[in-house]
Amino acid sequence: MAATTTNTDSMLKPHVAFLPSPGMGHIIPLLEFAKRLVQHHGVRATFFLISTDASAAQNDLRHSKSLPAGLNIVEIPEIDTSGIFNDDMKIVTRISANVGASIKLLPAIIKRLPDLPKALVIDLFCTQAFDVCKELSIPIFSFWTASTCLLALSLYLPTLDREVDGEFVDLPGPIRAPGCNPIRPKDLIDQLTNRKIEEYKWYYYHVSRLPLAAGIFVNSWEDMEPVDLRALKENAFFQSIPIPRVIPIGPLIKQDEAVNGNGAEILAWLDDQPPESVLFVAFGSGGSLSTKQLTELAWGLEMSQQRFILVARKPSDATPSASFFRAGGSDDGDDPLLYLPEGFVGRTAGKGLVVPTWAPQAAVLGHPSTGAFLSHCGWNSTLESIVHGVPIIAWPLYAEQKMNAAMLSEEVGVAVRPAPAAGEEVIGRAEIERVVRLAMEGKEAIAMKLRVKELKESALVALNEGGQSYNNISSFAHILLE
Ligand code: UDP
Repeated sequence: MAATTTNTDSMLKPHVAFLPSPGMGHIIPLLEFAKRLVQHHGVRATFFLISTDASAAQNDLRHSKSLPAGLNIVEIPEIDTSGIFNDDMKIVTRISANVGASIKLLPAIIKRLPDLPKALVIDLFCTQAFDVCKELSIPIFSFWTASTCLLALSLYLPTLDREVDGEFVDLPGPIRAPGCNPIRPKDLIDQLTNRKIEEYKWYYYHVSRLPLAAGIFVNSWEDMEPVDLRALKENAFFQSIPIPRVIPIGPLIKQDEAVNGNGAEILAWLDDQPPESVLFVAFGSGGSLSTKQLTELAWGLEMSQQRFILVARKPSDATPSASFFRAGGSDDGDDPLLYLPEGFVGRTAGKGLVVPTWAPQAAVLGHPSTGAFLSHCGWNSTLESIVHGVPIIAWPLYAEQKMNAAMLSEEVGVAVRPAPAAGEEVIGRAEIERVVRLAMEGKEAIAMKLRVKELKESALVALNEGGQSYNNISSFAHILLE
């Protein structure tokens, strides 16, 4: 009897569904949004996962014990991708092909749920949902998992595409969406650097469909990106184009991280280190360095004589996003001893910890012994660092990470960005030693720490009851109730 009452009670709660595209950087923030709605705003959530056997980190989510009651993960069965993928496909093309095939199964899966969701929240690369879910008449919201700066540029892209001949990267000066911060052509998101290839066409396809959304949530907040958020709200250009309301709800970062054996060892090692003394080095779920660059990084770390944790991946000379579709996975070739400089692990033992492929990043950044983060500047990593008050050494690799690195080092003031010497492709060991020392013990470290702690405080204010992000999430829950 009691169980029936509970079931009926929970069925009275409004039901919302989520669909992220494959990739931990997309799944994690949508899952956090779903958790918040369920835990604090009286909503039930169904979270669709596009199955892919390749990503161990994604598959771990299915067995996560930290999901609240009222949040159900439903898998969209794995499709045969052998006729769809080829080795030359870049990230957005490959994600779009995967989503395009998997999403056809979605309407039937939704219809089999006990009740229809009141809304569907998708990320940027799932815009095929606007077509396949039409017959269900469910409003679809978009969750922009990157910066507001990139959102503004993307909403401006159809205009830019019409007005500019040739490549954007060949423009003489910075690119600037109306009212927004300028972006140097060399820092532009990879997907906009060559307008002739599929990668650009897919990116354009998805962003040009954003106006179909009932609203665009963005994982940011006023104090982090005041200029771009204001431009989207008030600039005459953005008022003149048909875009839905942009709703800041960030920073939503991974909480309650499940820590397995390997992760527990890392945290235990951190327990033994002095406060703010360890540099955490990780390149997101998919980043890999070239062989030469990894060697320089290892030498630079060793020469800096600072404590560190290095999440080491097998180097890739082909592409910096080599591990994107196999995040957290491992194979025989992943043993760091096979590719780090000879003797490195032995010489740095005690001061440094080398971890193959994956670490519980949010927990490491939240640990009091962590003093700085050498990061590829994916948006989730950026937010996790700021929310935990950890300054950044900005080391962008692919996608929009160069834009984030420029923003963090030049506008926000929480990062230092190393550069290769003139004529060199890789960042040399001396430069790495310099920035590591600077971020860990230099005057600049004090200034960056003060600034990042300010932002950490403002992030908490935005997310706590009464804050802007909290209120925006609460308003969405109310819309679902109505
Ligand atoms: N991550 C992690 N452990 C790792 C590497 C990455 O937990 O060893 C998580 C990280 O905490 C973040 C996400 O994976 O939440 C990466 O997202 P981000 O947007 O930073 O970069 P992407 O992987 O999408 O390039």
